[in-house]
Amino acid sequence: MFIEVNKIPPEGLEIDRVLQIQPIQLGSGEQAKVGDVRLKGTLRRAGSDLEFRGGVEAGISLTCSRCLEPFRQPLEGPCHRIFRAGPLGKPESEHALVEEDLALTPFDGIRINLEEVAREQIYLTIPLKPLCEESCRGLCPHCGAALNTEPCGCPEARQETETLTSKLTL
Ligand SMILES: [Zn+2]
Ligand SMILES: [Zn+2]
Repeated sequence: MFIEVNKIPPEGLEIDRVLQIQPIQLGSGEQAKVGDVRLKGTLRRAGSDLEFRGGVEAGISLTCSRCLEPFRQPLEGPCHRIFRAGPLGKPESEHALVEEDLALTPFDGIRINLEEVAREQIYLTIPLKPLCEESCRGLCPHCGAALNTEPCGCPEARQETETLTSKLTL
């Protein structure tokens, strides 16, 4: 869904859209499906820039980092971006991680793509270590049993989890 700059009235354009987003590639190489994406806010001109201020909501399918079960994570967060007309492409890598630059997106000066706005924001909101629940008990390091479903018979399985994990990473 593209918004043409010359269709934005001086007082700004109210946006409240449900968008279709392509799956997002995670750091792990996994593709996460994204659904129910809603982008809501105001798009206005600021000199030759465009500014979007609002929020994004979505549901994303992730894999729990503890029990390895797929689950659906609702995401919600503020979305504030500034679009600056200029050469398209990624900002230089050294600057890419600087917080203020994350809000600055180059565009072609003619139109902006709302899916891209929502997508980038969702990407930034995805937890690094997703958990199906804070209290997720994960897998038994001895027998691999899913401890959320049933306790296994291993003695002291839970106390030894940390020691075993550090041994495995050596
Ligand atoms: Zn879990
Ligand atoms: Zn066990």
